Amino acid sequence: MDKEREPEELYRCKLVMVGEQAVGKSSIVLQFVKNSFEENYKCTIGASFLSKRVSIEGKLLQFDIWDTAGLERFHSLIPMYYRGAHAALVVYDITNQESFLRAKTWVTEIKDKADSVVVTALAGNKSDRPTYRSVSYDNAGTFAKDSGLIFTETSAKTGENINKLFVAIAKECAKKTAWQEPCSDRATNRLQFTAQRQGLTQKKPCCQS
Ligand code: GDP
Repeated sequence: MDKEREPEELYRCKLVMVGEQAVGKSSIVLQFVKNSFEENYKCTIGASFLSKRVSIEGKLLQFDIWDTAGLERFHSLIPMYYRGAHAALVVYDITNQESFLRAKTWVTEIKDKADSVVVTALAGNKSDRPTYRSVSYDNAGTFAKDSGLIFTETSAKTGENINKLFVAIAKECAKKTAWQEPCSDRATNRLQFTAQRQGLTQKKPCCQS
């Protein structure tokens, strides 16, 4: 790699995946991070964690993605995954109306309970199955617009709009937050990225006691 063009600083963005079970959350993460899709991809119950770096506005941003695999059933445990998250990706399945209604309640919950989240995106997954569609694009798009969400339809199977979605999230993070000088976490020597809500000043996570 060309040394001169290599970004010097690494910023981090904690992103949490939320949504009804089987809408394709794990598959979206797998497609984004590893460019692959498995028809019967099964995650162990609990939370899984994957990272991927993207170059954005001349800086290197690392997505630390938490996938609440199977935890939908243990709803009371979810808030701890929000903690310290900068972004949330709420997923529904375009062939499943119930999952869309559930996605709406996740959006409300994130607004109410996840103070650190500055960017929320909504993805209508399984766009490769239009014959079975039960949630219209316009209906979801209107909800997203009214709620100030990034919105797109995706297919974890074909990869449609997956990268575009994560790049849009990264850009929105950059727009809505102050890119601060990363500071060194004494314990892990990791560089941290701190999101700032408009009008709300937060301490850098690595500087908090
Ligand atoms: P999660 O429980 O929300 O993490 O959902 P999974 O990623 O485990 O996916 C549930 C099922 O839907 C699996 O059988 C996947 O292969 C399938 N699936 C996920 N995304 C898509 C997609 O975009 N298109 C299609 N056709 N199937 C998908």
